[in-house]
Amino acid sequence: MLKYINVLLADTAVSFCHYENTNAGRNKWITTELLNNIIRYCQTQKLSINYIFPKDTVPAELLELIEKTGHFKIASREVSVNATAVVLKPSDLEKLNWLDTSNKKIIILRVNKTEVKNLHKLLERLVNKFVKITLVLTDIEFYTEEDIEAYKQELEKSEECLFQQYKDVKDSLPEINFISDLWFARQMNNCNAGIDHYTFAPDGKFYICPAFYHNGSKSIGDLSEIQVKNSHLFSLEFAPLCSRCDAFHCKRCVYLNHLLTEEFNTPSSQQCRLAHIERECSRQLLERLKQANPLFLQILPIKIINYNDPMEKILRNEYENTRRAL
Ligand code: SF4
Repeated sequence: MLKYINVLLADTAVSFCHYENTNAGRNKWITTELLNNIIRYCQTQKLSINYIFPKDTVPAELLELIEKTGHFKIASREVSVNATAVVLKPSDLEKLNWLDTSNKKIIILRVNKTEVKNLHKLLERLVNKFVKITLVLTDIEFYTEEDIEAYKQELEKSEECLFQQYKDVKDSLPEINFISDLWFARQMNNCNAGIDHYTFAPDGKFYICPAFYHNGSKSIGDLSEIQVKNSHLFSLEFAPLCSRCDAFHCKRCVYLNHLLTEEFNTPSSQQCRLAHIERECSRQLLERLKQANPLFLQILPIKIINYNDPMEKILRNEYENTRRAL
């Protein structure tokens, strides 16, 4: 069921997820008329709005409209709009006095495959300075075996600082997507682009998510009609691999799926393996925290598994079945 709309205020809206904004050469703003129309549309359909800001100063007439109704704001650190979630890159963490005075914001930390080799240091810098961190790995499409191994090692090196983050908490837990989401999810909790949300772009059209607009994909409609071709392919039910998986925190990114496998509902091996490295890190940390803080005894343990990619499990089962049948 559609729950919210991401509204890109300009072609240069900051990326908050796996995609890069390759539209940087263009600089079209949403018009006040379009903004008015999408706000009315969301009010009529009872949908929330996430505004995605560019780095440039937003024209006053747009800001005035934005502030008239409830919304969330996603913006990079430089933009002074009192954002609900702030998008950071690792170099932002070096400057920091900002973090110390940021009133514990929701942070979206986008880390590329070179920067990931220093992830434990980035996480150490963030401990106790946020209410929620969403770690987003970029250029997953270029991850090699070596990069996947580097990510695993960085998460292992981060365990101590993550342990320190949680060991003395008394009630509400700070959220770190790749760690704490799994502790509470009992079913898939994915991005759900194309199901829970669409994106409205400055051209007045809807897209599955910002990535599809920025990479020049066809729109799925406009304010008069939305038509998602093969919409069933976005649901978990039609995702044979994901529906057998319990890495419930995985974003199940349909953009990366399509980019890497040409199927909306089939993830690449890189995506599955990275999600399973996170799953194992989350599992081990939970076990350790259960010994240190009684609060964690209430959380159900995460099962030990013997595969790093659900495809391995399926192939192993098929092999066993064939052997038994011979
Ligand atoms: S499909 Fe979802 S997870 Fe993937 S890039 Fe788009 S918003 Fe991000």
